[in-house]
Amino acid sequence: MRIPLIRFFGLGLSSILVIFLLISWLTFSKLLTLESTLKDISTNTIPEIVLSGELFNEASKLLEFTVLLANADSDAAKRLAEQELNTYIKDIKNLSNKKLNDSFLERQLEVINLELLEFSDLIWERATLSDKLVTKRDNVSKIFSTIFNEAKSASITQNSQVIWAAEVPELMIKVNQAVNASRMQDVRRLFEGVKFQLDMLSKGNGPQSLSSRNQALIRQIQFLLFSPEGLESLVISHLQLTGRVIGRESFMRNLIEDFSRLLEISMSKAKLDIFHQVDASVKSSQKQTETIGGILVIAILFMVAILFFIQQRVLRRLRHINSIVQHKVQGKSSLLEIKGNDEITDLADTFNEFAETIEKQKAKLKIMSMTDDLTQIANRRSLDIRLQHDFELSVRQKSCLAVLLMDIDYFKRYNDNYGHGAGDECLKAVAKTLTESFQRESDFIARFGGEEFIAVLPNTDLGGAEKIAKQIFQQLHKANLPHGHSAVSDRITISMGISVSTPSQILPPEVMLKKADNALYAAKHAGKNTFKS
Ligand code: GH3
Ligand code: MG
Ligand code: MG
Repeated sequence: MRIPLIRFFGLGLSSILVIFLLISWLTFSKLLTLESTLKDISTNTIPEIVLSGELFNEASKLLEFTVLLANADSDAAKRLAEQELNTYIKDIKNLSNKKLNDSFLERQLEVINLELLEFSDLIWERATLSDKLVTKRDNVSKIFSTIFNEAKSASITQNSQVIWAAEVPELMIKVNQAVNASRMQDVRRLFEGVKFQLDMLSKGNGPQSLSSRNQALIRQIQFLLFSPEGLESLVISHLQLTGRVIGRESFMRNLIEDFSRLLEISMSKAKLDIFHQVDASVKSSQKQTETIGGILVIAILFMVAILFFIQQRVLRRLRHINSIVQHKVQGKSSLLEIKGNDEITDLADTFNEFAETIEKQKAKLKIMSMTDDLTQIANRRSLDIRLQHDFELSVRQKSCLAVLLMDIDYFKRYNDNYGHGAGDECLKAVAKTLTESFQRESDFIARFGGEEFIAVLPNTDLGGAEKIAKQIFQQLHKANLPHGHSAVSDRITISMGISVSTPSQILPPEVMLKKADNALYAAKHAGKNTFKS
């Protein structure tokens, strides 16, 4: 099955991209979760704790204020308490405007607020009553003082005045005791005493009856003390109101203490909430960190696998291709075999094809460099190689080696008369005839240059060489290539020089050529169309 590398790399890189996107997303979502937890803590829980703290503080102030209010019995204290109340109500309202998460706490705060207003009204009522009471007591004291002063200035003979004056301080003390008494029964008892004493005085039980003016003054006092709006009923009402104030104060105290406790619970709940939120966030962070770690390990393993694959499937094979190419460049032959079915095998196949083409072209070039262009037989370079090779072989085999150097007679005349083109054709025909004259596989024929040819005949002694020379002459005669301007024949003829290297007289190639040339020269001089050795 074909696995294209491009698809493999595409898939691998996409997978790595997906993994890193996943890691980025996980990290980002983790940061978002952390951010939302911190946001929640900073926008909800911490303000709630702060608000609870402020409320707790206000509640403490409220307790102090409740005591202050409960004790506010004078006009000045009443005004101070009123001022405090206004500040307190403003603070509480400001705090209530902030959102309290606990609706029960909110309701409790409203109740405290309402109760406080009612409590303040009660205090207000008591202070008003107290003022009235003081005024009334002062009036009574004033009348008592009048009576007392008048008695002091009266004549000693006026007995009734003396008796009267004697009772006034006692009555004043009793009235003041009654006004300041804190128990209802004391109030009643003291006022009853005063009432009885005044009744007795007004009835004139003593030895002298009171003057009409004193009678009128006693009636005024009786009215001031015992009428429905009198001092007695004011003191009783004040005492009752004080009782209600004390009761309401303890109720308020309980309410505020309850509220404080609730605030404490709410604060500790909020703190616990923070703890839980942070704990949950830490746990989820740990989990996500583990997940990210796991994915990272997978990603790293995946990348290692990809690198391993690249090493095995790509780099190793490329290195192999490279070494084969190096081999080929150095001229060593080796076939590039790459397993698999992908772009690299395609590359190897292409390279093999390319190398084969080059080899063919090289072989062709080699042949071309060894072949004579015109006659298509071996050229001079080829001869040099072959002669050297055959010479070495003959030395090793201790055999004879013959060289036949041939030159066409009167070829210049041929060219001059038939033209250069005809000369070329003639050279081709001679080459063909010469080639056909040799039977042995090992015989070699080459164009030596111009109109000269040379034959190298291994395992051929002088006798054999002369025999071959004769055959060549016969073949050339048979070929009957016309030459009307030759002085030795009517057809193309050659002259030949033979040299032979034998085991007893080994001749190196250059010596053989030289000797053959000398022999050829001799043949020319001997009249041409013949051979010499
Ligand atoms: P000899 O009988 O003494 O050998 O005389 P020759 O005329 O054959 O020899 P010479 O050396 O005077 O002339 C050789 C001629 O061969 C000269 C040249 O024009 C001709 N020749 C050499 N090479 C070629 C070739 O490739 N083509 C053609 N057409 N002629 C060639
Ligand atoms: Mg010549
Ligand atoms: Mg010639």
